[in-house]
Order: sequence, then C-alpha cells, then structure tokens
Amino acid sequence: SDSDASAEPTAGQLRTPIVAVLGHVDHGKTTLLDTIRGSAVTEGEAGAITQHIGSTAVPLDVISDIAGKLVDPDDFDLPGLLFIDTPGHHSFSTLRSRGGALADIAIVVVDVTDGFQPQTIEALDILRRTQTPFVVAANKVDTLPGWNPDGTEPIQTAIDRQSDRVESDLNERLYEIIGELSDEGFSADMYWRVQNFQNNIGVVPLSAMTGEGVPDLLTVLMGLSQRFLKAEMSIDVGGPGAGTVLEVTEERGFGTTLDAIVYDGTVREDDRIVVGGVNEPIVTEVRALLKPKPLSEIRTEKEFDTVETVAAADGVKIAAPDLDDAMAGAPIRVVRDRDVEDVIEEVQAELAEIEVGTDEE
Ligand code: GDP
Repeated sequence: SDSDASAEPTAGQLRTPIVAVLGHVDHGKTTLLDTIRGSAVTEGEAGAITQHIGSTAVPLDVISDIAGKLVDPDDFDLPGLLFIDTPGHHSFSTLRSRGGALADIAIVVVDVTDGFQPQTIEALDILRRTQTPFVVAANKVDTLPGWNPDGTEPIQTAIDRQSDRVESDLNERLYEIIGELSDEGFSADMYWRVQNFQNNIGVVPLSAMTGEGVPDLLTVLMGLSQRFLKAEMSIDVGGPGAGTVLEVTEERGFGTTLDAIVYDGTVREDDRIVVGGVNEPIVTEVRALLKPKPLSEIRTEKEFDTVETVAAADGVKIAAPDLDDAMAGAPIRVVRDRDVEDVIEEVQAELAEIEVGTDEE
C-alpha cells in the first residue's frame, strides 16, 4: 500500500513480541488462536490483522478494543503481539532465532478439568530450558457443570455471574493447577494476585470457546512483555533483516514461497537474501513481499497485497527464485551491505545448531 515507504522504521524502535501457544493435545490451543484471530477481526478495522502466512499480528489498538477497560493503550509502547499460528511444542522447539527460541513469550494451555498431562509437563520443561516467560491459560471454564456463559468479557465479570458452587468448583481446579505448577518448580498464582511476574507465573482462567477471560490473557501478555521483554524488543529495525521460515509453500503465480517471521531488521523488495536449504544455503533475491489481504477483501480480487518493506516483528510471504530446497525452521538473512560469504557462514552455523537441537527432542 501507499504508506509503506513512509513507514520505513528508524533505528532503536520497539518490535512486536512473538507469542507461541503450547500445551497438551485437545486442551484448546487451536481454538484459542482461532478465538484471538476471530475477535481481532470483529473488533479491528479492516486490515488490522493479518493471517494465512503462519502468524497473526494483533496490534495494540485491537488488543485494547478486545480488553476494554483492562488495557489502557497509553500504558504500552510495544506495538502489539504476533502469534505463531502453528501451536505445539514441536513448532516451538524447531522455530528458532539466533540459537534461541523464536517465540519471546508463551501461553501454556491447560484444560481446567483435565489438569496436567504429559505434554503439559513437556511444554514446561522446554520453557524452563529456553527461559521463556509464560502464562498459563486455564481453559474450558465453560465446561464446569452449571457454568453460565456470556461471551468475550473479563473473567471477573464472568465469575461474578456464576453460582457460589460453580465459583468454588472453579477455584478448586485452579488451585490444583497452581499446585501442579509448584510440583514442576514454578511458583504460580491467579494472575490478578501476581505482583511480580518475573518470579511468579500468572494463571488466567478462560474459555477459548466462549471468550470469557480472553481479554485478561491479552492484557497479561501485554503487561508481561512490556515489563520484562522491553529491553529485548528494542532493536535496530532498519538493519538487515533476520527471520525464520515457518513453511515452504507453492503459491500460484509466484512459485515456491516462504511463509516467514521477520524478527529483526527489515526485509525489502529486491534485497539479496541467504536462506537455509536442504543441502546448502540458498542465495537469492526477493522478488515480492506478500501480505494477505484483509479478510473482507479476500475472494473479491487476488489474495495478496505486495509491500515494499517488512520490519520486525512481522509475518510475511517471501517470493524469490530457487526456493525449492528451502526448509521449514531455517534461518533467513538479508545480505544488504555485508559480505555474502559471511552471511552464508552465519546461516550454516545456525543450521548446524538447529540440527543438534532437533536431535535432542
Ligand atoms: P488442541 O489440540 O490443543 O489444538 O485443541 P483444540 O483447540 O483442537 O480443542 C480440542 C477440543 O476441545 C475441540 O473439540 C474444541 O472445540 C474443544 N475446546 C477447546 N477449547 C474449549 C473451551 O474453552 N470450551 C469448550 N467447551 N471446548 C473447548
């Protein structure tokens, strides 16, 4: 669009934190991501959120619309949250940035009735190892017998509407989850009681299905990011871009493309890039940077808009020649004014590390 050239960012800007969703199978990871996307579409201006490229950007003003009185946008200077759309700890472990996890922050989804399960504990092990801050979403509160649902609203409003019996049932189950977290070595409490999120894990009761508590989750994620990630989010957004391949996909009219997350710097049309490949790093040139059209416009025209520039952190589809051997999880680097051999070496070193990391799983 027209505004892209003028939106070229300057050094020292704050980027969007990248959020991953983990947890046991069937505990509601996919539903939660769908609900966040869905409420963002409902609440947001057309085009405010993007999807279909492996990640969903939810800008601060949309979060603030969803969260209502829980979030005052003036309290935050981070631009929003970027959710990785593929949930699960496998994608969390294989998606990296410079040796660390690609995600800056995580949500561990736990079915409030089912409690801790093997993959819940695996998720916590991974987050501990990677020292990733996280919150626990105690999901499916609407399945508690007698729960009276109402829709996307703060959890305290929802709880106030329940009978005493339902409320004490909920509390009992939440304390069970808090106890299980403690067994795993994490000190935790209901999120509204947590004073210091650096030492304590916040538990957010919610329903990914009906939407109760989702405003609270977004609020806690923004608060956590603002307080503890701000230093890491301060990056040279104008520098040569660095990113990670989420998926390698065929796109009609563009051939093989990369669904990617850019987590540092800027990628521009015509930039020379190095991408991790099956046999060796691929050196190629960006032909087009594609963003999905706003949902309302899809089907009326072509599916993508081209943009001149993508700045961290954001999802983008990269069209370029010679991408057939590119790999999911592989690094992407813009060469810009560096020596291409140095950049190839950087990509190779990172690929070696990823292979080691995958073997450990
Ligand atoms: P995943 O495997 O963790 O991605 O779990 P899904 O999101 O696929 O959810 C598994 C099942 O639980 C699906 O049938 C969902 O509809 C259901 N589910 C997820 N969240 C909720 C919730 O908050 N309330 C209810 N009642 N069902 C839910």
